[in-house]
Amino acid sequence: MKVLKFGGTSVGTVESLANVKQIVEAIPESAIIVVSALGGITDRLINTARLAAADDAAYREEMEAISSRHFNVISGIVAENRRAEVISKVAHLLNDLKRIFEGISLIRHLPSQTLDLVVSFGERMSSVIVAGMIEDSTLFNSLDFIKTEEWFGKNIADQQLTSSLIRDAFSGSFNKAIVPGFISTDRNNGTITNLGRGGSDFTAALIAAALDAELLEIWTDVDGFMTADPRLIPNATVVDMMSFVESMELCTYGAKVIYPPTIYPVFHKNIPIKILNTFHPSAPGTLITDSANENEFSIKGVSILRGTSLFTIAQGSLENMPEIESRTFNSLSRRGIKVYPVASPERGGINFAVPADDRHIALNVILSEFAPDLQATPSLQPVVEDNLSTLAVVGSGLKSQPRLGARIRHSMMRAGISVKAFSEGTSDSTLSFMIDCGAANDALRIVHELVVE
Ligand code: ADP
Ligand code: ASP
Ligand code: MG
Repeated sequence: MKVLKFGGTSVGTVESLANVKQIVEAIPESAIIVVSALGGITDRLINTARLAAADDAAYREEMEAISSRHFNVISGIVAENRRAEVISKVAHLLNDLKRIFEGISLIRHLPSQTLDLVVSFGERMSSVIVAGMIEDSTLFNSLDFIKTEEWFGKNIADQQLTSSLIRDAFSGSFNKAIVPGFISTDRNNGTITNLGRGGSDFTAALIAAALDAELLEIWTDVDGFMTADPRLIPNATVVDMMSFVESMELCTYGAKVIYPPTIYPVFHKNIPIKILNTFHPSAPGTLITDSANENEFSIKGVSILRGTSLFTIAQGSLENMPEIESRTFNSLSRRGIKVYPVASPERGGINFAVPADDRHIALNVILSEFAPDLQATPSLQPVVEDNLSTLAVVGSGLKSQPRLGARIRHSMMRAGISVKAFSEGTSDSTLSFMIDCGAANDALRIVHELVVE
């Protein structure tokens, strides 16, 4: 059995939904179909909630626009004999949503739990529509089996519990199971949570891994995983095969094709991933497996993680560097903060990159770790540079190319782009370079031209 996931653009319009219907109904055996909210709806739900919290009456018009978008799609794609039932279910959800917005505007406050409740309506509605559209389908409720727990202020998937609940939920027979992506519930109190923006990919991967699916198909709006974001690099080409590690690195460093946590559960079970285009289903796509060309050197792509901060501790250097280094990285990892060690010959000391979202918490962790020592050793005070981007060049066998990193740095420097820090030689699949955010697009173009074109 395979698991298919259709993203927002794939379920965004009557035309794209017609493609989804054709793709799914052509599968001869049973399959699980995970769907995102209609394209753009998650952002719209967030904005509407914010308007309501600001008591801006415009939230009512937005609510109307959200309603009519769903009703238009239903009348365009759901067969007449099932339409009334789908309309009634979606109308019921929209009515609840409207009351929630009214409540938010009354109290003028939008706690994160309420925002999580609001955004859940996107996938709850789209899945009802897709289930109404596809012949012989059954709607499953992921709120019952995708479970999260709180981890230092974030909701993260409880993969063990989720896995066993998925096996129970799908133990009966079904032909096409339709599942809302992204949404989940807290394992302890049952409140509605989610897996993070782009999280429908992760829902699909958790299901594929729990059920030992033969394949996970991610259906999106491009012909496959490309050598760079085609919106920024028109010359980017589709990569026909890549390894789990390569795809994980590219996605961690900003390639939006797959939500990064998605890859771990299927990698662990060695379930291949295919990236396919809903708008061009005959294209072969990209196959991601455990071994794609891993022994040969080849560049699979270049990506950019926008918004990273560069931390430097013990600038210059201190006698007890190994101890400081281990305290730094241990304290951050205890708080669940993922950091990327980098080198900065200019600065010396210990350098690492942190995604902007984690910047404040990382700073607090470091400050409290070294608080007792700061007076005696002022250079333990971290220096943080914000508004940087990290460019990554990914491809297995990089260790066989010891001069490539320097060539890349030179080509950026020649174009006037200063590389603040970099990581070369620590990973066999990734080179990374920290540059100013404003230079990110130029750097991507220059490096793509140098290493891919
Ligand atoms: P979905 O709504 O289907 O989940 P996303 O917008 O999350 O789709 O991801 C697909 C988009 O990812 C593409 O439209 C493309 O602009 C972007 N993207 C970024 N990097 C890459 C890459 N290396 N290869 C292909 N697409 C990429
Ligand atoms: N609808 C959610 C989002 O826009 C989840 C997803 O599309 O995967 O982030
Ligand atoms: Mg996505």
